[in-house]
Amino acid sequence: MIRAHALTKRYGDTTVVQDLDFTVHPGTVTGFLGPNGAGKSTTMRMLLGLDAPTRGRATIGGRAYTSHSAPLTEVGALLEARSVHPGRTAFHHLMALAHTHGIPRTRVEHVLDLAGLTAVAGKRVKGFSLGMGQRLGIAAALLGDPAVVILDEPVNGLDPEGVLWIRTLLRDLAAQGRTVLVSSHLMSEMALTADHLVIIGRGRLLADTTVTEFTTTA
Ligand code: ADP
Ligand code: ADP
Repeated sequence: MIRAHALTKRYGDTTVVQDLDFTVHPGTVTGFLGPNGAGKSTTMRMLLGLDAPTRGRATIGGRAYTSHSAPLTEVGALLEARSVHPGRTAFHHLMALAHTHGIPRTRVEHVLDLAGLTAVAGKRVKGFSLGMGQRLGIAAALLGDPAVVILDEPVNGLDPEGVLWIRTLLRDLAAQGRTVLVSSHLMSEMALTADHLVIIGRGRLLADTTVTEFTTTA
């Protein structure tokens, strides 16, 4: 379970996230919606322990990852600023990550397959399209078989086939009992993918609702 409680982040005198309260339950996909600059990435970074809250708490499974980031085997994440060595192949990139975290090679092959990257696993990442880069980032997020998955704008850069793929993938992850938080600025896409919606604007909570409720009352 993911929780934000009175979560607040200020940079200097600019408040980027303010008094955010929401819960993401296991077995569901929660769409984290808001326009660019609303504070979605900042919130996700605080959940992952990559950024310290100014006030309030961000917890995953009851733990606040304040001083160290969440381990890959507990929480898998796709963030906008990823560091991928461009000269490495997709396989090498994932193997290096797997090695650091004691994850077996069979799992690398599994996530390459899951991401539809098996055929290009031996190609250098620098030749990858934006969509292939997103697929690789998602493969990396799933490498540790985590119970909690946090994806920042995973649909960005994907072609129509990729969009359909991620929709199915997210539904599968939730069906396996995982807790899935996925950010997007696309309401229409989240209405098709998510069970719940957490909508923010200028760092503040605007709505915390089910997709069904939202689409029948909006
Ligand atoms: P979103 O993910 O919804 O697009 P972000 O969390 O990336 O929003 O950004 C929210 C706001 O916080 C933006 O106005 C952005 O410029 C600002 N911001 C993000 N990181 C920093 C930082 N390190 N220093 C100052 N401002 C920041
Ligand atoms: P797929 O089922 O699409 O091939 P996975 O191999 O990741 O993808 O899914 C099956 C694995 O997921 C199983 O090994 C199972 O232990 C694991 N699993 C199922 N539910 C959870 C969960 N909530 N948290 C972590 N792992 C889970």
